Amino acid sequence: MTNLEIIEEIERGLEPTFKNIEKIAYLNQKKVLDAFKEMGVSTQHFAGTSGYGYTDKGRDDFARVVAKIFGAEDALCSPHLTCGTHTIATALYGLLRPKDLMISITGRLYDTLENTLYGKDNGSLESLGVSIKYVDLKDSKFDTEKIYKEVKKYKPRVVFVQKSRGYSDRKAISVAQMKEVFAKIKELSPKSFIVVDNCYGEFVETQEPTEVGADVCMGSFIKNIGGSLAPTGGYIVGTKIAIENIERRFTCPSLGRETGSYEPGYRLFYQGLFLAPHVVSQAIKGSYLIGEVMKRQGYKIIPETDEVGYDIIKSVVFDTKEELIRFVQLIQSLSPVDSNCLPEPYPMSGYNCDVIMAAGTFVEGASIELSCDSPIRSPYIGYFQGGITYEQLKIVAEQLVDFKENN
Ligand SMILES: *Cc1c(COP(=O)(O)O)cnc(C)c1O
Repeated sequence: MTNLEIIEEIERGLEPTFKNIEKIAYLNQKKVLDAFKEMGVSTQHFAGTSGYGYTDKGRDDFARVVAKIFGAEDALCSPHLTCGTHTIATALYGLLRPKDLMISITGRLYDTLENTLYGKDNGSLESLGVSIKYVDLKDSKFDTEKIYKEVKKYKPRVVFVQKSRGYSDRKAISVAQMKEVFAKIKELSPKSFIVVDNCYGEFVETQEPTEVGADVCMGSFIKNIGGSLAPTGGYIVGTKIAIENIERRFTCPSLGRETGSYEPGYRLFYQGLFLAPHVVSQAIKGSYLIGEVMKRQGYKIIPETDEVGYDIIKSVVFDTKEELIRFVQLIQSLSPVDSNCLPEPYPMSGYNCDVIMAAGTFVEGASIELSCDSPIRSPYIGYFQGGITYEQLKIVAEQLVDFKENN
């Protein structure tokens, strides 16, 4: 059999999985289209503004569309939120005050937030007098007994949840799991803000965390929700009171969301948001195809082919550092941009070890486009995600069929 024939056989086995992914994309597309219609999105929303940007209609109505999709009261969406890390940090600084406590119920936060949480005299939350506690996951699930005990005892200002796996060997958390736990947390501590890092989670399921009780949910526009077209930025959706607290930190208490111009205008944000459910489905389908190709060669993958995943990532566990590096390099070589570049492990700001990244992307570093990133530490896990078209991922899968043999 040729590699392509092998891939086509795997595709036939994946048909039920693909049908399910397409169904979710269909329902999310409907949700997005309905929000666009209801908000009356029109060409005038695409005009840019300069200077202070007061009453920027494109900006303000875009936030309303996003809030609607997330079933949230309010939203802050901005190209001036520079990335996911900045977006999450802005939300935390907005909600937490000196002497407040935050409990993360999914263990440690994403690596790049470490210096936002800790450090003396660096403006970190710790240096401002905020304390942070953790309840680790148990088998990729909430440790409910411990969470309820801690929440009841401390009534923290913020209960933090990271939906996606980050650089760990766990699975992502489903919205269904959140629903049950959030209801109980609200009962035990009604004033706590439940805050969800939703990076890589948007449109993977038919509901978002704010539809099941999260007070705040946020992420990056160069991941799922930007649909590969948004050039930069972040979104924060949630309750009115939470967003008010956060917008004062985003700019300053006198201004909130009233200022912030963007001369290029928001067309690519609207268009990317409209495409996002479909693009996410392409990426997830491709991740199952590539995952199965690696699994057949003996590599452990997370989630497994017969499991439903709750983010767009597939983890592949390699035996050696060299194999991991070769995998990342192969992904780069099959990218539409910078295919001739050879990625190498490198120290990066925000990470405590060398990192290797493949991102041959149109929007620099956008991980809704095919990309792969891995800290160089044992166990050697390649985390790959994204892909604007399923067909590109099929080409990658075809090349990976004899990956092990070529060692
Ligand atoms: C990507 C990511 C972040 C950080 O986003 P950046 O845009 O890379 O700063 C935070 N949390 C999770 C779960 C992520 O996947």
